[in-house]
Parts: sequence; C-alpha cells; structure tokens
Amino acid sequence: MTTAATSILRGGEWLLQDTDADSVFTPERLTEEHRLIGRTAQEFVDNEVLPVLDKLEQKDWDLARKLLQRGGSLGLLGVDVPESYGGVGLDKVTSLVVSEKLARSASFGAAFGAQANLTVVPLMLFGTEAQKQKYLPKLMSGELIGAYGLSETGSGSDALGARTKATKQADGSFLLNGEKMWITNGGFADLFVIFAKVQVDPGAGAPGGSDGQFTAFLVERGFGVKSGKEEHKMGLHGSSTTALIFQDVKVPAENVLGEVGKGHKVAFNVLNFARFKLGAMCGGGAEGAISEAAKYAVTRRQFNTPIASFGAIKHKLGEMVVKTYATESLLYRTAGLVDARIEATPHEPTDGSAALNAFEEYAVEASIAKVFGSEVLNYVLDENIQIHGGNGFVKDYPAERHFRDARVNRIFEGTNEINRLLIPGILARRAVKGDLPLIPAAKALQEELLSPPSAPAFDEGVLAEERKAVAAFKKVALMVLGLAMQTFGAKLTDEQEVLMHAADILMDVFAAESAVLRAEAANHAKAPKAALHVDAARVFVSDAALRVDASARQALAATVDGDTLRTMLAALRRLIKVTPVNTAALRRRIADETVARGGYPFA
Ligand SMILES: Cc1cc2nc3c(=O)[nH]c(=O)nc-3n(C[C@H](O)[C@H](O)[C@H](O)COP(=O)(O)OP(=O)(O)OC[C@H]3O[C@@H](n4cnc5c(N)ncnc54)[C@H](O)[C@@H]3O)c2cc1C
Repeated sequence: MTTAATSILRGGEWLLQDTDADSVFTPERLTEEHRLIGRTAQEFVDNEVLPVLDKLEQKDWDLARKLLQRGGSLGLLGVDVPESYGGVGLDKVTSLVVSEKLARSASFGAAFGAQANLTVVPLMLFGTEAQKQKYLPKLMSGELIGAYGLSETGSGSDALGARTKATKQADGSFLLNGEKMWITNGGFADLFVIFAKVQVDPGAGAPGGSDGQFTAFLVERGFGVKSGKEEHKMGLHGSSTTALIFQDVKVPAENVLGEVGKGHKVAFNVLNFARFKLGAMCGGGAEGAISEAAKYAVTRRQFNTPIASFGAIKHKLGEMVVKTYATESLLYRTAGLVDARIEATPHEPTDGSAALNAFEEYAVEASIAKVFGSEVLNYVLDENIQIHGGNGFVKDYPAERHFRDARVNRIFEGTNEINRLLIPGILARRAVKGDLPLIPAAKALQEELLSPPSAPAFDEGVLAEERKAVAAFKKVALMVLGLAMQTFGAKLTDEQEVLMHAADILMDVFAAESAVLRAEAANHAKAPKAALHVDAARVFVSDAALRVDASARQALAATVDGDTLRTMLAALRRLIKVTPVNTAALRRRIADETVARGGYPFA
C-alpha cells in the first residue's frame, strides 16, 4: 500500500512554501485496502462494541479484554507492527482510518489507544529485538493488555518531574518505588510502560544534585504492580482509569526500554504519534455526531416544521461539517507526509527508527492535530446536544455521553495549553538552529511590508481568493512569530499569551491550507461532490480570516507598542484584505446535503 506524496515537505515547512494540491494526501485518495480495513473497524465497533457499551460502562474488564482480543484477531491492534511480530504492518494512513472508526465508542477507543498506541508504539520504536519478540505478538493478539504510566499526582504536564524511583541492584535489576496516577487500562493491564528515575549512586562519583535519570521500563504486572481503585470520572466510564502502586517492584535489567536516562525520548516521541491518532479519533467522533444531529433534525418537528429547515439549525449543521472537513484535511495531509517520509527512508520493516524520525519531524503537525481536533470535537458535540434540545441533556440519547466522554481529549496526551506552547515553540527552536528558514523569511517579509504595495499576481481558479487568503495568513503568522522572537529573544517562552495567539494563527494556517488543497484536488479530479468541497473550504477560510486578524492584533499589542504597534497594525490591515463570502448560503447548501445524506457528506 503506498500513499507517498510526490514532494515531501519537512515539518513546519508549509508555513514558508506553497504546496501543490496534487502532492497532498486526502481522504479521497484512500485505496481500496484502506477502505476495507476501515469497514472492518466500523463493523466491529457497530456490531460488537456499541451493543455492549452499557456492560463496559459497568466496568466489566473481562469484556474489555475480550473486545481487545477480538480487535487483535481482526488485525486492528497490529496496524503499526510488522508481520514478523504478529502485526499487519500497514501505513500510517491506515492507522488514522482505524482510529477514526474506533472513535464511535470513546471508552473502548481509550482502552484500544492505551494498548495499540501507548504500549505497542514505544516497544516498536525503542524495544530491543528480544523485547519485541517477547511482548509484541502477545500484545497483538490481546493476550497481554498494555498501559502507559507517565503521570503522577505531582507531575502531569511536567512529566519529567516524576518521583517514582528506580534503584539499581547489584544483579543489574531495578527496584521501583512510587505511584502513577490516572492510568488508562490500569485496572486490568498486564504489561506497563513505566517511567521512573534511576537513582544516581553517590558512591560512583556521579554528578550531585541530580534527582535521577528519567528512564522507561517494561513492567509486567507479575513483577508486583498493584492497581488503585477505579477513578469516578465525568466520562469514559467504560475505560479503566486507576493509580498504579510500586513497592519494591523488581524489574530485570533487560526490561529497560531504550536507554537509562533517555526516558524523555520514549515519552515525547510516543506522544507525537499518540497526539496524531487522538486527532484522528476526534475527527471520527465528530463525523459520528454529525450523523446523529442530521438524523434528529429531520425527525424532530417544531412549529409543524422539521427543525432541519430552520436557518439557525442549518448554520449549526453546516459549521459542524466545515470544521470537521478542515480537521480531516489536515489529518490526512499529515498522515501522507509521515508515510512518504518513512517510505523515503531506507529501513528494514522491523526497524522502528524511520517511523521515529518521521514522528519527530512532524511533531508540530501532531500537536495541531490534537488541539484542533479535540476543540472541533468539543464544538461539534456541544452543537449536537443543542440540536437535540432537552433530549440532548438526558441519557435516552447518546449526545450527552459523547460530550462527557470527549472532554478529556483536551486534557490528556499533553493538555491543549502545553501543545499550544509546543506549536510555535518547536518552530522557533528549529528556526534558531537553522533547520527551518523562518528567520530569513520573516526578515524578507518585514522588507516587503515596508515597501509600497506591488500589483497582486494574477491568479485564477475557483479557490483563487482562498489561496490568496491562506498566503496572507502565513505572512501574518510569520509577522507575529518573527516579531515576538526578535522582541523577546530567549525570554519568548515566558510570553505564553503571545505564544498561544501564535499557535491559534498557525493552526488556522495549516487547517485552512489543508482544506483549500483538498478542495482544489477534488475540483481538479471532478470528484462527485467537488462543489461541496469548495463550499466547505470557502466557509472555513472566510471565518479563519476573522480569527487570524483577532489573534494577530492581540499578539502584536502584547509584543510592541507606540509607533511600532501602529506600523504593525497597518501592515496587518494590508495583509488581511479578505472579502467575506456569503457563508450563510454556503452553510445552507452543506447542511441540506448533510440532512439529505443523513450524515457527514464527505464520508
Ligand atoms: C481519563 C484520563 C486518562 C488518562 N490516562 C493516562 C495514561 O494512560 N497514562 C498517563 O501517564 N497519564 C494519563 N492521564 C493523565 C493526563 O495525561 C494528565 O492529566 C495530563 O497530562 C495533565 O496533567 P495534570 O492533570 O497533572 O494537569 P496539570 O499539569 O496540573 O495542569 C493543570 C492546568 O495547568 C496548565 N499548565 C500546566 N503546566 C503549564 C505550563 N507550563 N504552562 C501553561 N499552563 C500549564 C494545564 O494546561 C492545565 O490547564 C489520564 C488522565 C485522565 C483524566
């Protein structure tokens, strides 16, 4: 299966370059093999998971185990793992498709994610051959259930502040002592990826002052891991979440995952991949909710009229689809880039280093997928409740459960604040290191903005205005980030408000461009719904212009003042000259198509 794009942009390069629509992977380019595994995942969830969701919510972990085993037998657990370890070894687009479909049951999706993403992926990326041979086949079949223990009471976002200790013994093994918090699958997992600090032996002349070397371990429950009680959560009642207690738990030397002192590499790289997949789950969840809302809006009548006929409801349905379209567009674009980069790197199928490098390369895009996806899902699920009226607030309909289940997406896998800080933070770091030519581009932009406006280049095509708008958004992002880097220098990390605004602008740039490129590709290919693709991209860009403008004004005013601020605001006005389109008419068309189809019209 190949999904290679013709040119492989490096992570973040979309900010500095134009992209050709034909080089971008989109859902319309899925192969028959991708679609087939998508159908398998969907049928599994619809026929085998959703009917037993109530039992799962009563914390029947034997059932959860059986469902994971069934997912394993269908090959769903092994998408990222080569056949030699019991997996099915498919591309990252397939991972995305499977994650989207599993989102229809968020609780099971969480259990699945803790196994397939948070346990299998670190083993695949950092495990020794012996570790992979020992554990992966059993994780693939569901014979072993996995969990990932990073968070502790005192260290969530500050993951490296963990206090769980690993003390090296004379025989080379380690004794683990400490407690992990909120661990998904914690109540019934058999194998844990645990992060702990290896205590530095003062007698060995190690540098003082260190509180230990942050290290990942593969810990079997049989080594002595104890689970705490189940947490009482707002949502995800069908997913086990417990503390894990370690009291002199002896872990053999061969169960260090990666290297002693390099646990941060395991933790952060796993999170890059997991964030991308979480974005996929959010996109899939939004699609499911659109289907529920569209069906309800047709059957529910008020004032002798189906509520789907009211403009206010059409606005909601249209906007739910537009935001989901943008999410899906950026997710598939990123998956295509990751696959292309992996394919372009010579490697053996059993060697995880190509995937590791690709996830590191697209860390910014993974954070965008997580933040943008989780916030779109939140919006869509809230509007789903609103469309259901009182029925949205009671348990007879699934809308309220979806809403409760989804809230945590903005908290785990790095909170949305932490991920927002990472988005401009990583770009700025790459710029300073010279890996991304952002600084020369920002300087060139400053000169351009100080010179008289040149005649705009002639551009034509159905989305010409939107392409121009995206080019302007990129310049705004460069202006804001470039000015902030210049003004604050190394202290930029202290200016979180500016970084948050910069992140919002960057997310809108990536989402808007991905939507426009996808719509252009659909238009070139004369795809069946080409006109609807164009409508969705136009609505997104039109509204993004308002958001980008508002974020840029606030970021600039927090960065400079006086004449400099006035000059910058004048430049901003010159850049953002987007004429609003009639989004009401476009949303109505999208909503009508959604209602006619009874769900997300681009599925
Ligand atoms: C249902 C559920 C399942 C989970 N599953 C797992 C799991 O399987 N494995 C695991 O290891 N963990 C898991 N977690 C833990 C989860 O990853 C953490 O809750 C998350 O990382 C946030 O940490 P915290 O709760 O300590 O919040 P805190 O870090 O205390 O954050 C509180 C607030 O402060 C903000 N904040 C923190 N630091 C900064 C900063 N530097 N700058 C700006 N703002 C900041 C945060 O964004 C947030 O808004 C799970 C949590 C839940 C609720």
